[in-house]
Amino acid sequence: MRVLLTGGAGFVGSHLAELLLDRGHQVSVIDDLSTGAMDNIAHLKGRPGFDYVIDSVMNEPLMAELIDRADVVYHLAAAVGVKLIVEAPVRTIETNVHGTEVVLKHASKKDKLVVIFSTSEVYGKSTDVPFREDADLVTGPTFKHRWAYACSKAIDEFLALAYHRERHLPVIVVRLFNTVGPRQTGRYGMVIPTFVGQALAGRPITVYGDGQQTRSFTYVGDVVGALARLIEAPGAVGEVFNVGNTEEISIMALAERIKAMTGSASEIVRIPYDQAYDPGFEDMPRRVPALEKIRALIGYEPTVTLDGILERVIAHQRADDR
Ligand code: UDP
Repeated sequence: MRVLLTGGAGFVGSHLAELLLDRGHQVSVIDDLSTGAMDNIAHLKGRPGFDYVIDSVMNEPLMAELIDRADVVYHLAAAVGVKLIVEAPVRTIETNVHGTEVVLKHASKKDKLVVIFSTSEVYGKSTDVPFREDADLVTGPTFKHRWAYACSKAIDEFLALAYHRERHLPVIVVRLFNTVGPRQTGRYGMVIPTFVGQALAGRPITVYGDGQQTRSFTYVGDVVGALARLIEAPGAVGEVFNVGNTEEISIMALAERIKAMTGSASEIVRIPYDQAYDPGFEDMPRRVPALEKIRALIGYEPTVTLDGILERVIAHQRADDR
């Protein structure tokens, strides 16, 4: 198949590109390098069946052409990272909503299968864990910028499902839960690369809030494996799927574990949310996916434990530091 990856030079996109090439598909990447990086796809350049263009998904004539040439589109291009979202809400909303409009509009003209990337963030402040795909979404007020991300992604989901229902476009929506692995940068606030970087440099490990909030982290290799299988699974089209891992850990315990695994002398410090992000910032207390739906469809089972994830991220960041 010819596969188009928008945002293919990003962290998840670059891992997906590699897997699809390994499986014999042709892969085209479009990325504006806003949060992606050429370094992420440097090892793919020159591989047969791989090409890339540095441009924006807002470039409609180009997108029309790229989509026309593809059999499947994975639309990963988006503004990501809570830090970026809080600092640049206009860019977040415009990129996430308009970019998806462009992709769906042109895919619809040519009836191409599209995978739309959403996020566990859409569950918002819900405490109804584990989060099932059919659960209510609970976000905060519009003057708290964090929720712009959840709402912009929820609009993407609505639009994708509307194209499916009204125009019979084959779409699959995936909600990724805290995906982690080599090549993820801490620059946009993501907690594991940030903590590992701090621990390796001997700087304080910055736990936001009281550290009792939990997350469940998924290895990127497990995620891209599921993404590659979903497009071949009868019954996936028109559906929404969580992709994640149910192993839950508090952020304080995560900091302690990373400190121990790196043998770091870093102290663990608590930073109030107001200082870390914005005054009035709201975090979610727990986030765990329900995986029954994707398990039933493709037999998805995450294979890498949190310790396995941390070992890989630590090894990768140590190698980068050398
Ligand atoms: N976090 C933290 N210190 C950091 C970065 C993040 O304590 O330096 C916390 C953050 O407040 C959240 C959790 O770690 O509770 C996960 O944050 P991340 O930005 O990685 O992803 P989120 O789940 O918030 O989208």
